[in-house]
Amino acid sequence: MRYLSTRGHAERKRFCEILLEGLAPDGGLYLPERYPQVDAAALQRLRAVFNEGKPGGYAALAFEILSLYIDDIPAADLRALCERTYTEAVFGNPAIVPLKQLGDGFYLEALSNGPTLAFKDMAMQLLGQLFEYELGRRGESLNILGATSGDTGSAAEHAMKGKRGVRVFMLSPHGRMSPFQQAQMFSLTDPNIHNIAIEGVFDDCQDIVKAVSNDLDFKRRHKIGTVNSINWARLLAQVVYYFAGYFQATGHNGERVSFTVPSGNFGNVCAGHVARQMGLPIHRLVVATNENDVLDEFFRTGVYRVRGSADTHETSSPSMDISKASNFERFVFDLVGRDPARCKALFADALSSEGRFDLSGDAVFADAAAHYGFLSGRSTHADRLATIREVDRRHAVVIDTHTADGVKVAREHLEPGVPMVVLETALPIKFAETIVEALGHEPERPAAYVGIESLPKRVTVMPADVDRVKAYIAQRTAAA
Ligand SMILES: *Cc1c(COP(=O)(O)O)cnc(C)c1O
Repeated sequence: MRYLSTRGHAERKRFCEILLEGLAPDGGLYLPERYPQVDAAALQRLRAVFNEGKPGGYAALAFEILSLYIDDIPAADLRALCERTYTEAVFGNPAIVPLKQLGDGFYLEALSNGPTLAFKDMAMQLLGQLFEYELGRRGESLNILGATSGDTGSAAEHAMKGKRGVRVFMLSPHGRMSPFQQAQMFSLTDPNIHNIAIEGVFDDCQDIVKAVSNDLDFKRRHKIGTVNSINWARLLAQVVYYFAGYFQATGHNGERVSFTVPSGNFGNVCAGHVARQMGLPIHRLVVATNENDVLDEFFRTGVYRVRGSADTHETSSPSMDISKASNFERFVFDLVGRDPARCKALFADALSSEGRFDLSGDAVFADAAAHYGFLSGRSTHADRLATIREVDRRHAVVIDTHTADGVKVAREHLEPGVPMVVLETALPIKFAETIVEALGHEPERPAAYVGIESLPKRVTVMPADVDRVKAYIAQRTAAA
């Protein structure tokens, strides 16, 4: 299997070459040359692998799916990496991604029982194993530099902690993350994890990461890399739980299932698109947004309009507060018939002063729903509170704010005879303030997280100064 760029860069690469890279050299995103097809017999076999591999059915399924896309890691090694990643010890549950039923044919798929209690662990934990493996094989090391407002940074740190050959330098806005999120990151004591709290907002952190990455000499000398959501390996890891959700929601492979996905950067739902393109019988892929409705607007109107910072709202489902959706280009590439010149032109418009592209008058726009199964909807703070209350009252289940956006939108797209699976993207304890607002009490806290706010914190506070950050990194990477 080779990988190409959505903007047409000529060189085709193999999996391990793109694993440690971010964007393609032409600024595009990597996609496989074709989607491997899973026919009826293969789907039957995958169902058996998942159902009969107890415990370890999920890891075995992950190996089967990943090996369709990865041919430059020996099979025995890839299987071992999957088995080391998807364990009950890490994900708190032998099923890894169990379904919870909320009414007839309506399910939540639990993706948030990993170490940082959000779905990002599903992919990041695998990425940690893959990085350690590949860097070890090459005899190289990598220094991951990132900016986080919460979920991504903690998932990355918990995946990379203690891994050989990897260091993490994570910038976060000083004093702006929730006490729970701060504790998840700053209580780590592993020497390869470095927390830097920047006196500024998230955008300042992101600007520093960009400035450091644009200094190509510094980047090369200090082996700077990233783990952001456009990494193909993260997306691929997420494809697996669409298969696992499908097998649990159906009794046999003749049935279709719809998924609703609380969405921000379009990484999670893009994995659903890949699963559907492989032949998994997914009926609808429903994109749920919060007040930051860039994606809902596109699927309703055909207009993709990047928001300015004044137009980007701070909401109570903060991990979906985006101004543009960084993975969306992958879907648009397929939508325009995999025409890289067309894709490049559209995103050049979206990222120019134009700030938008418009496919409303183009025949391909109808394909988004008709051929690719996409629908969408939007949820607000009031919807979120009402949904959290209602699910608690009727089902005695407390859901988080992002998942609530999913449940609200999923209900608008139910069809008789088609099970609906909503992806649960975080546990409520991460966003306790809004749960208290909705229910009048704190959500339940998993035992391992009791009192984490009072653990000692390891963090260096710094002004928003690129040179200070570079000096800090240089000092800690020189020895190697
Ligand atoms: C990251 C995140 C999302 C959005 O996922 P995308 O892949 O960016 O669409 C939704 N909910 C939670 C809790 C998240 O952490």
